Amino acid sequence: MFYSSVRTLLAIFVLSLCCLVPAGATTYVMMTDEALVDTSSLIVEARVVSVSGAPVETPSTDYRVEILRLLKGRSPGAEVVVRQLGGINPEGRAMKIWGLTRLGIGDRALLFLLPRHDGTYGVNQLILGAFREVEVSGERVAVRDLEGASELRADASGKLASVSGGDRPRDVEGFSQWIAQRAEKRFRPADYFRDGLVLPKYNLFADASCGGGDGRPIRWFTFDSGGSVSFTSNSSGQPGLADGGVSEIQAALAAWTNDSSSPISYLYGGSTASTSTNNNIVFDDPNNAISGSFSCGSGGVVAVGGPSYSCSLQTHNGQTYHPTQSAGVTTQNGIGCLFAGAGGITLAEEMFAHELGHTLGLDHSAVSGALMNPILHSPSIGATLSPDEVAAVAFLYGTPVAPPAPPAVPTNLVAAALSTSQIQLTWIDASNNEDTFRIEMNSGFGFSEILAAGANATQITAGGLSPSTNYSFRIRARNTGGDSAYSNTASATTMGVAGSAPSAPTSLQATPATSTSIQLTWNDNASDETSYVVEMRPTASGAYAPIATLAANATSYTATGLTALTSYTFRVKAHNGFGDSGTSNEAAATTLANVPTCSDPNALCLAANRFSVTATFDTVAGQHGTGQPIRLTADTGYFWFFAATNVEVVIKVLDACGFTARPAFWVFASGLTDVHVAITVTDLTSGQSHVFVNPIRTPFQPIQDTETFQTCGAH
Ligand SMILES: [Zn+2]
Repeated sequence: MFYSSVRTLLAIFVLSLCCLVPAGATTYVMMTDEALVDTSSLIVEARVVSVSGAPVETPSTDYRVEILRLLKGRSPGAEVVVRQLGGINPEGRAMKIWGLTRLGIGDRALLFLLPRHDGTYGVNQLILGAFREVEVSGERVAVRDLEGASELRADASGKLASVSGGDRPRDVEGFSQWIAQRAEKRFRPADYFRDGLVLPKYNLFADASCGGGDGRPIRWFTFDSGGSVSFTSNSSGQPGLADGGVSEIQAALAAWTNDSSSPISYLYGGSTASTSTNNNIVFDDPNNAISGSFSCGSGGVVAVGGPSYSCSLQTHNGQTYHPTQSAGVTTQNGIGCLFAGAGGITLAEEMFAHELGHTLGLDHSAVSGALMNPILHSPSIGATLSPDEVAAVAFLYGTPVAPPAPPAVPTNLVAAALSTSQIQLTWIDASNNEDTFRIEMNSGFGFSEILAAGANATQITAGGLSPSTNYSFRIRARNTGGDSAYSNTASATTMGVAGSAPSAPTSLQATPATSTSIQLTWNDNASDETSYVVEMRPTASGAYAPIATLAANATSYTATGLTALTSYTFRVKAHNGFGDSGTSNEAAATTLANVPTCSDPNALCLAANRFSVTATFDTVAGQHGTGQPIRLTADTGYFWFFAATNVEVVIKVLDACGFTARPAFWVFASGLTDVHVAITVTDLTSGQSHVFVNPIRTPFQPIQDTETFQTCGAH
């Protein structure tokens, strides 16, 4: 429908030929994206699955959307219903809301939502919280159709003035990431605006009558198979034009037919006496379709055009449409004066081309230079398609795109319980052409889809689950070509609320092991621990610190790296997913002294190297020397004084600690000499030392000492 330029603000909008719809003017003050995110409880990227009239009194529209990506809030499931004001109610009452972003079946959208009492979701701020995704030169851009609304904007003096609404395009990926980060309180400046991008703004007719109005667009299907549509014109002709408008009608038909982006074929079929609007163009409103008449002085409606379509559905490029059965154009009586002056022919061509655009399924465009803008251009643009119409018919009638091959199956699905209500899923993305991953869950009653993740996702968390319940999961990748096979099935059991921390260990004992280590043992009293933690502190002062985490069922540990002769205190606790047990009793022990090793080159190392034995001698002639040791066994050796071939003293040190009547180390020695001999025997562990002396000029007196070294208990 055209309104003349003098009557541009009529509050009437013709949705299709069948309905006149009252308008709801919309006025807004622009809200920042920050405020939009902060005041929305659920933000998703979604795809429109269906559009239908809502079963409520106030004319409203229900958009069933599948969630592709969760940007803020808890996942409400794979699909939600978004109920938007405006549309048609069950009694047929309709309402148009200006500035609503057009969402059609198959459209992707960024939706800022708030839950409603009836289980559906509302768009935050009615028109501001819904962005439609459009592709511009390969880039996905989020747009709002705010042109139909009035924006209150402060002028230079700070006074609010009403201006035509508008919006800045946003890069979908950058915007989505920014939203998700802000939802996690990670604030950064907006960097996703794509100012200057030229966006298509076309609108398509949407059904408002089939079953309460299903919102689906309308198109001819005959062109797909090479067919064409012929329009006749009524033989009375258009007043004001030289040949009754036939050449202008032909120019208008050719404008659509000649567009190379579509197979549209509109032909001229000659004149007819018929005044029907069955593929016919009629003049002077012979059927009184437009009440009143036009006057070049006061303006009015110039013409109407549009399709008659079936409520049945047909599919094209993966979208469902109502097939157009016929179409017609009616000009208003009294418009002949419009064509009187210079440019009248061009104006008539523009008018017919515009109305024929309606017959193709196009609604009015908000772009001021577009042919489908509802205001006649001055000067007229004639029968010229703007890029907006080219984009519209490319979408509606363009060559079907071969669907891609279905994605490869995702692999290595792993499920892990995070809490009593959440299970995390991870997988390997084995495909490069998926649109989404579809997650299915089975809690014992068969698999059903519960979540979707965006392209290239490799993890998602299933929430809202029951405690102590086993869930199985499988996923598949999806694109417009279909679904992949299912991944492996992965299962996990949520944590139990009745669960508790394990029982504490008891009977902790600490025993010195060496000068740098202490041996610990305890009793394991738990059956549900996942680990043991050993804690230590210096006995004299200091706080406990963990020194080791041990596997379940551990009952011993050796603390190492300690300082000699230092007391340490220990305690042990068990641990599982619900927390720590209480601590065991404390147990303290002191490390052993540093034990010197038997390393004197003049010493015999006996009793398993615990004893060091040296000897010196003095002769009558005043000769003094040190005995040279020759070890014979672990317990026995001898010394020579003057020559290696000449044995002087034989000695052994025996470990008789096992001899319980008198546990001790025994020293036995005998000599083949009468010089002065001093034999020094040292227990390196206890530090005790004893010197056995044989006087000079005395045959060596046997040594049989089972008393001196009662040092068995020393460590
Ligand atoms: Zn129009």
